[in-house]
Amino acid sequence: MSFHIYCLLMDPIDRLSRIFERFPGIGPRQATRFVAYILRSTPTLRRELIESIQQLSSGVRQCDECMRYHAGERKVCSICANPERDHSSLAVVASDSDLAALERSGTYRSMYFVLGGTISLASEKATGLRIDTLLSSLPERIERGLKEIILAFPANPEGDATTTRVREDISERAPSLRITALGRGLSTGSELEYADPETIKSALDSRR
Ligand SMILES: [Zn+2]
Repeated sequence: MSFHIYCLLMDPIDRLSRIFERFPGIGPRQATRFVAYILRSTPTLRRELIESIQQLSSGVRQCDECMRYHAGERKVCSICANPERDHSSLAVVASDSDLAALERSGTYRSMYFVLGGTISLASEKATGLRIDTLLSSLPERIERGLKEIILAFPANPEGDATTTRVREDISERAPSLRITALGRGLSTGSELEYADPETIKSALDSRR
C-alpha cells in the first residue's frame, strides 16, 4: 500500500502528524505539537496555510541561474536579475536556506549558485548535486566578469568533502578563477542557515 493511500485511511490527526514527521529534523513529538497548534488556530490561519502550500505548486519556480526557488513567472529570480549586483563573485551554497542566510547578513552583494546539497560521506557520492550545471555555466559567467568562487558549505565533514570536490572540479575546468572557502568564523558543525549576520560577515571576511 502506498504512503498516500495508507494516509487516506487514517484518522485526520494521525494523518497530518505523519506528514509533518517526514519533514527534515522533525520527530513524532514535534509533529504532534504542530497538529495541536493547527487544531487550536483560527480559520484564517488554517486558510492561509492551505493557500500558501497550494501556491507552492502554482506560483513558484526554480531560477535558471542560481537554481533557487522563487515566486513569480520570470525564468530568473530577483537576485540574479538585479542589475546592481556584482558579477565578480559567485557564492556556491548547499541549499536555498543557506543562500537566504547569506542574503540576510546584508554583506554579500554578488551572485549565488545553489548546489542542492552536500556530498554524502556514507556513499561518497555527489548524487543529485548540480556540479555539472555549475561547471558548464562557468564560461558564460567568466565572460560576465566572474573572478572568484566562494565555497560556502556547512562547517561539517560533508561540507568539507563538498568543498574539496567542487574546488578540484572548478580548478580543472576554469584554472583562471580564484577559489576561496568561508573562514572558520563559523564554529565546526554549525549550519550557515542558523548563523547570525555578524558570524556570516566574519566568515566571509576571513575567506581563503
Ligand atoms: Zn537566481
